Amino acid sequence: MANYIPELADVDPEGFALSLSSSDGYVYESGDAAVEFTIQSISKPFTYALALGQIGQDAVDAKIGVEPSGEAFNEISVDDVTKTPKNPMINAGAIAAVSLIPGASTEERFDRIHEFYSACAGRRLEIDMNVYASEKATGNRNRAIAYMLASFGVLDGDPDEVLDVYFRQCSVRVTSTDLARMAATLARGGFNPLTGRRVIEANVVRRTLSVMVTCGMYDAAGDWVSAVGMPAKSGVGGGIVAVLPGQLGIGVYSPRLDVRGNSVRGVQTCRNLSSQLGLHFLSVTRESSSTLRAVFDAGPGIRVYEVQGDLLFAGAEQVLRTAEHDRDEYEVAVLDVTRVDDINDAARGMLTGMRASLSRVGKEACLVDPDGRVVPAERRDEYDTIVFRTLDEAVDAARQWSAG
Ligand code: GLN
Repeated sequence: MANYIPELADVDPEGFALSLSSSDGYVYESGDAAVEFTIQSISKPFTYALALGQIGQDAVDAKIGVEPSGEAFNEISVDDVTKTPKNPMINAGAIAAVSLIPGASTEERFDRIHEFYSACAGRRLEIDMNVYASEKATGNRNRAIAYMLASFGVLDGDPDEVLDVYFRQCSVRVTSTDLARMAATLARGGFNPLTGRRVIEANVVRRTLSVMVTCGMYDAAGDWVSAVGMPAKSGVGGGIVAVLPGQLGIGVYSPRLDVRGNSVRGVQTCRNLSSQLGLHFLSVTRESSSTLRAVFDAGPGIRVYEVQGDLLFAGAEQVLRTAEHDRDEYEVAVLDVTRVDDINDAARGMLTGMRASLSRVGKEACLVDPDGRVVPAERRDEYDTIVFRTLDEAVDAARQWSAG
């Protein structure tokens, strides 16, 4: 256990809890899932996310890097060239992140952080004042880091005030279920599955998960990504949070730590879960489902492409390539996107661009998009497309075009 913070040495070393939250908020619990422990460094990705949301990525990047350090979490170091902390997951970067949270006073700054963590967990979290006092009384190493950062111009304010907020944020009490919910909020792209509230912007989630992948488990990051394959963060309170993007969030608690400050049983549990449930985020399966559901002719010269599922670059590319390949076999291509669930801007641009590329060879294209998935009603002007509400309407129009 972490005995450099005296209060942390007092916990029951046998304590164990595991919680898993699905992305729609159902939680499975095992062990002492009601036991509270201090969040410690699991606070780091959340304060980093808050800073990104509050002042924007450029301002944050000017003060904190995103490179794995390969060093211990409490290393007194900055990047050789930029003189800024190497990443936000080690103490130096986390202390810098605290200093970026807007607030006229220590209280105001901490309140923002506290509220944000609570919004991610879906309940009001408490502070462990004993752990806070204990760490504040003994935190000379963090003091060394903060004063070093101030000397490099990374910290603007009073280093002691920033540290005070940092010690408080590390002393926020959570259960494994809180952690699972916080993780699920990240897994859902920023929506808390319990409250349904958006608490983090999608681009901030992406950045936060990126640094969790590369830096979340300190100098064990490579081993972790290889074996477990989930963006994660550990804390010396014995907690670990792990996120499977789009799918689920995990919180584990077990206070005995390895030399790197990661929970021994926590790491082992995540390894087992990942291998038994197949949770590695780089598991490459066969294409999960085919984007093209069906291709058929709906009359002479009219070919219908039925598109389904979530559409990103690779799916849109497949649709376009197929339609381009067949283009001598039809006059009008009808893209029926009624069954598309979600689409990003890249795929949207590709599908709507098909009309322009077909018109160069004298062909026409249109969309059947009743729900405005591909071309939302309010964005019609941005795209050169013809959109129908039903396949019948599209086929009627296509008959006239190919006849005319
Ligand atoms: N409060 C602890 C510290 O700053 C957090 C470290 C950790 O959890 N890895 O030393």
